[in-house]
Amino acid sequence: MTLQKVAVAPAPRGRPRVSAIYGPVYSWRYRQSLGVDLLLRDSVCSLQCAYCQLGRINVHTRARRVYVTTSRVLDDLDAAAWKSSNVITFSGSGEPTLAANLGESIVAIRKATRKPIVVLTNSTLLNDAAVRAELAAADTIACKLDAPSDDMFRKLNHPIPGVTHADLIAGLKKLRTEFTGKLALQLMLMPINAGAADRFAPWIAEIAPDEVQINVPSRPKPREWSLATRGEHQEFGAANGFRLLPHEEVADFARDLAQRTGVRVIAPPAAAHSRA
Ligand code: SF4
Repeated sequence: MTLQKVAVAPAPRGRPRVSAIYGPVYSWRYRQSLGVDLLLRDSVCSLQCAYCQLGRINVHTRARRVYVTTSRVLDDLDAAAWKSSNVITFSGSGEPTLAANLGESIVAIRKATRKPIVVLTNSTLLNDAAVRAELAAADTIACKLDAPSDDMFRKLNHPIPGVTHADLIAGLKKLRTEFTGKLALQLMLMPINAGAADRFAPWIAEIAPDEVQINVPSRPKPREWSLATRGEHQEFGAANGFRLLPHEEVADFARDLAQRTGVRVIAPPAAAHSRA
């Protein structure tokens, strides 16, 4: 399919033009996943997670704005190998709901490709009705919930001032009520939260997602953000001092959480454990 062409300024001489589209990259949940990066020019997020594969977040904000126009995104899509992907995933250089053209971009890319659309979000903007309305256009929303308490949320995810664990839970419940697609929770499992299945369980039972996806922080954390960090980068050396929980421990946590909540809980298979 040829997408509607738009005029895009050429890259300055000597500097390669960067693309809002990357991959496809392999995902154990979604197989070949084509990435959409609506932030593109820097790392932009309302959290500063200890394990973030982007490195340090340079723009720590919860203000929404357009970073890359939708027409530019469509132009980059047209030049990308999108046909081989199984899904199209909005993720990239930070928190996709901070892009004010998220909803418009989801609709435009779905129309152009007819591929399932996944959005990975850190859950911090879900109390905003406009954000929830834009997310409604997705097929799957995977929402971060790494901590069962405000104390652990601060230690692990370093939110921008004014964002609390209670805000996250309230936003997730509102999204659950309104969203008719697949709602997943993403939980990054680390030594700090691995013993907290009993404390996660009441929140998860209340939110009642379709699925909980357990992850482990197996991708190295670089010192600085660069475009390479948004994909499955390997070139930055060892992960930043986190002990990777053994596969069996992760599988046990998943079983325990499923039993406590009655919700389907999935964890990376052993072969994918190191590339979750
Ligand atoms: S929410 Fe995602 S992009 Fe933001 S700091 Fe955490 S891991 Fe990085």
